[in-house]
Amino acid sequence: MNRNKYWKITRSGLYGTAKVLLEFIVVIMISSVFLLASYWYLWLMIIAGFLILLLVWHTKNFAYLCPGCGEVFEVSTLKGFISPNGVNKKYLRCPRCGKKAWADMLRIKEKTALKK
Ligand SMILES: [Zn+2]
Repeated sequence: MNRNKYWKITRSGLYGTAKVLLEFIVVIMISSVFLLASYWYLWLMIIAGFLILLLVWHTKNFAYLCPGCGEVFEVSTLKGFISPNGVNKKYLRCPRCGKKAWADMLRIKEKTALKK
């Protein structure tokens, strides 16, 4: 795997993630004012949709560094969803050495969202 493809998470990278989360919360709050009274099911669908979008975005843009062997690997959206999360770490099993550990989050430089 090409190491130059990844960035260590920087302070600005974390702010970027926080900003996306904040926008997400604002959208939920605004939409709840208009929709919650009579269209609560629509509101639930919007929230579910945003959560999935957020998750897919996160999966496509981040990879993980194994603290044991230094392997860099990406995870599937589902695995990303069910694995415990830290601020910039995630508890995952390394595909190379098989150890479960808190892997450091890395930002993927180029977006691979549409290719693969
Ligand atoms: Zn490993």
